[in-house]
This record gives sequence, structure tokens and C-alpha cells, in this order.
Amino acid sequence: MKTPHVLVAGAGPVGLVSALVLGAAGIRVTVVEEANDLNIDLRASTFHPPTLDMLSRYGLTDALIPQGLVARFTQQRDRKDGLIAEFDMDTLKDDTNFPFRLQCEQWKLTHLIRAKLAQMPDVQVMFETQVEAVSQTADAVSTTLKTHGETHQLQTDYLIGADGASSAVRKSLGIAFEGYTYPERFLVISTAFEYADHLPHLSYVNYCSDPQEWCVLLRVPTLWRVLFPTKLEESDAEVMGDASVQKRLQELLPQPKPYETSHRTLYKVHQRVAATFRQHRVFLAGDAAHINNPLGGMGMNGGVHDAFNLCEKLLSVLQGSERPEALDRYERQRRTIAIEYINANTARNKKEIEERDPQLRKKTHDELRAIANDPISTRNYLRKTSMIDALRRAEAIL
Ligand SMILES: Cc1cc2nc3c(=O)[nH]c(=O)nc-3n(C[C@H](O)[C@H](O)[C@H](O)COP(=O)(O)OP(=O)(O)OC[C@H]3O[C@@H](n4cnc5c(N)ncnc54)[C@H](O)[C@@H]3O)c2cc1C
Repeated sequence: MKTPHVLVAGAGPVGLVSALVLGAAGIRVTVVEEANDLNIDLRASTFHPPTLDMLSRYGLTDALIPQGLVARFTQQRDRKDGLIAEFDMDTLKDDTNFPFRLQCEQWKLTHLIRAKLAQMPDVQVMFETQVEAVSQTADAVSTTLKTHGETHQLQTDYLIGADGASSAVRKSLGIAFEGYTYPERFLVISTAFEYADHLPHLSYVNYCSDPQEWCVLLRVPTLWRVLFPTKLEESDAEVMGDASVQKRLQELLPQPKPYETSHRTLYKVHQRVAATFRQHRVFLAGDAAHINNPLGGMGMNGGVHDAFNLCEKLLSVLQGSERPEALDRYERQRRTIAIEYINANTARNKKEIEERDPQLRKKTHDELRAIANDPISTRNYLRKTSMIDALRRAEAIL
């Protein structure tokens, strides 16, 4: 019998997790990545508990923990009033083996997976190889690839499009990316300045509401990352320039000396979900299938959850224990979660953190304080924010 062969487009966290799950089960996998190496930009930096549970099956969580920071507490703050509510993730200890957020850069995961894939003779990762077009018959997918300017075709049994927000796989199949783009862009500034020395009782994950300019303060091992929304009238050059970066940081916490910054990233933010996650033998996963604002850290985590869900089903089909119709459940489960859970919650998080109406702000703050003061409410709240509820909801979808 012919060995099944799966093509994975994109060597981001979602593509590489997919390759790992399939490769570890002995499936032949080819990963194609248009860049010449793995991305090392500072992007997602939070691993939620259920993601750590999934990654631990492959020994990745034990390897990631020493490279990150264990965040037992998360905070909701107000830029003027300080701490509003602190949530103890240890209340999730009966729900997960990892009752904390791991603050760790996403590139550390992809580098760990690459090392594991290198040990698998049936998994090949091809850099500088771009997906250009996709077509399929009842029996196979034919993908047009370009490597160093040379165009060639690869025939595989299945294709996973994990090629990010601008997915060539999604576009080639004409699948709409439904939703909207926020008018403002988001700016992330990284600095080695130690905020915890100046803001009493700061945790590693702090969402700071403000009617004028909200922000998020996130710790990764060597830096603080500060996320701000930008104003519509500001040009990219203004936003990224020293004067405006210093102004934003000084308004947040005045200091006698200018802040030293190590990275500045400005990006557009969208709430979009692909019209379908499956077209016959081709699947979309991760950012290729759904994108959202980063408030709640659900993009990369949701994408990794897609990869596990899809690849476990694909394995059952390739190994003959399920019929191909079982693959439709991937779309039913994960597209529902992308719409009703990931996009809905991240959109709500943004609305709450930027709320200007003083009464609505007070109402939200009072609710958060009440939740934090009650262990049962805290557990329910954290099951939602750490995506445990989303996975349980997905399991209930047949
Ligand atoms: C600038 C930026 C900042 C971000 N910041 C945050 C953040 O602060 N917090 C947060 O939670 N999330 C953040 N995100 C989102 C998070 O990084 C993504 O949700 C996560 O990377 C999704 O993983 P993925 O594997 O689906 O896609 P990606 O990580 O985008 O990986 C897709 C891969 O496919 C490759 N590729 C693209 N097109 C092709 C093609 N035609 N052929 C072959 N390969 C291709 C790309 O080079 C890339 O390596 C950020 C994203 C970006 C772009």
C-alpha cells in the first residue's frame, strides 16, 4: 500500500505542530516555508494551559517551561486606579496539568519542534519554497510550488494550509476571509525597563483599561512588551518614531531618563474567519483560517488547537479507523470555536478595555472584582479566558 503523504504549507507554530503530530505517527510529511528560516519575530508570547497539556504529549512543555516564565496570576488594571482584580490560575488545578500561563516567545516552540522533526526520516522541511496554487482531484492534491525561482508540482494525499493570515492556499481555493479590520493599528514596544520595580504588585500579564489609551503589559523572560492602540490620524513614521514612542511610555510611567527600547512592531488587526476550513482534501488551520486581535492571547493558541484537532482526525482516516467524512467534524468544531469563542471573546475584550462610558467601566470593574473575590467564579472565568471552555464546547459538537 502507498504511504500516505501530507503537504503542510507554512512553518509557523501551526504548520510545525501539524507536521509533528503526523510525523510522530509515521506519516510522510513535507513542510514548505517561503522564508529562508523560521521566523524569530516577537509575536505571540502566551501559552494557555490546554495548549501546554497538548504540547506535553510530545515532551514540548517540559522543554518550554525553563525557557519561559510561569505566570500564576493575571491582572485587570486601570491606568489611573491601578489594580482592579487579580486572578489566581491555580484555581484551574483540577482542569489542567499546567494551571498557569507560560510567558514564552512563540519562536521558541517552533525551534523545539524543528529539532524533533529533524529526527524523523519521513518529515522534510523545505525552506525558500512558496505555495503558488492548489488544485485537486478526488484522489490527490496538486500544489504548485516555487523553489529558488523554479516552479514545480507536488502531488500529495492531503494539504494543510497553515500559511498564515495572507494564506496562498486559502486565496488559491477562492475561500472568502469574512470579517473586518480595525481602523487603528496596534503598536508593541519591547523594553528591558523593569516595570515591576515601579508598579506595585504587577503580575506577568496585565490588561490595563483606559478611556483614552488602554495598554497591555506582558512580561517575557528578558523584556516587558507594552501594547498600545494607535490613533487613526498618526502616520506609521510618527507612531514608530522616538518622540511618539517616548511620549507613550512616559505617559504610562514617567521616568527621568528616556526609555531604552529593543523592538517596535506596528501591525493591522483583524477579526476574520474563513468561509470554510475544508475543501475536499485541503484544510485551513491557524491564522490562515482565523485571525483576531491579541487581547486574550488566543490566536496562536487557537491555531495550535486546530492543528491537534485536525491531525488527530487525519491520522484516524489515514490509518483506516475512520472514513473521510469524519474530517468534516474538524470544520464544524473549529470554525464554530473561531467564530463563537475566539473572535467573540477577543472582540469583547477590546470593547471592555477601551470603554469610555464611566458607568459601563465601573460596572465591568465591579464584576471583575466580584469574580476575583470568589474562587468558584474565578475558576469559571479562567476556564473561559484560558480556552478550556472552548475545547469542551468543541468536543460537544458532533
Ligand atoms: C506582526 C505580528 C505580531 C503578532 N503579535 C502577536 C501578539 O502580540 N500576541 C498574539 O497572541 N499573537 C500575535 N500575533 C499572532 C500570532 O503570531 C499568530 O496567531 C501565530 O503566529 C499563528 O501561527 P500560524 O502558524 O497559523 O501562522 P504564522 O505564524 O503566520 O506562520 C505562517 C508561515 O507560513 C509562511 N508562508 C506564508 N505564505 C506562504 C506560502 N505561500 N508558501 C509557503 N509558506 C508561506 C510564513 O512565512 C510563515 O512562516 C502576531 C502576528 C503578527 C504577524
